[in-house]
Amino acid sequence: KQADIVPFLKLMVYSFESMAERAQLSYDVVFKKMSKMAYFDSDKLEKMVSNVLSNAFKYTEKGGKVSVVVDFENDKLLMSVSDTGNGIAQEDLPYVFDRFYRVEGSEKKGSGIGLALTKELVDLHQGEIKVESVLGEGTTFLLTLPITLVGLPKSALVIDQEATKVSINNNSG
Ligand code: ATP
Ligand code: MG
Repeated sequence: KQADIVPFLKLMVYSFESMAERAQLSYDVVFKKMSKMAYFDSDKLEKMVSNVLSNAFKYTEKGGKVSVVVDFENDKLLMSVSDTGNGIAQEDLPYVFDRFYRVEGSEKKGSGIGLALTKELVDLHQGEIKVESVLGEGTTFLLTLPITLVGLPKSALVIDQEATKVSINNNSG
């Protein structure tokens, strides 16, 4: 089933506003389109987006800025999350999507799982996630996700089958 993905993303992205306030960060959000019908698995989308967004807030010091841009192109969702945080050294960049990898010397707590999980989910969608960073200046994650049936993980279709089964059972009982 298709649904409008924009209101769903807005809810998720704007839910970080209170965190921005608490952390004394400015938070810029741009949605380039008001609406876009799409196939998406809301649970998996939520995990991908919130991992990247929560990192941006976690690794940016007070007075800094987090920016989100959401756009669509050729039936793909393009979402960038930029921050003016401490950045990631070039030598660490290739490993940030590895399980349990954390940049040495970070004072922030974490398990190094968030981006590994995000990458797994992105791969499942046949999407892409890229990172650019300059140490001491900031980091940008760019997420590209197909939002047609082609990009929908099989697990999402299984959920639909389950729902069908349930309704058949109800009819016969
Ligand atoms: P968690 O499992 O709680 O998410 P984590 O945040 O340490 O723990 P990841 O989200 O996988 O783990 O990130 C891996 C590492 O990449 C982080 O420990 C951090 O060193 C670095 N990193 C990720 N995002 C950023 C960012 N926006 N700015 C600077 N460093 C980052
Ligand atoms: Mg994290």
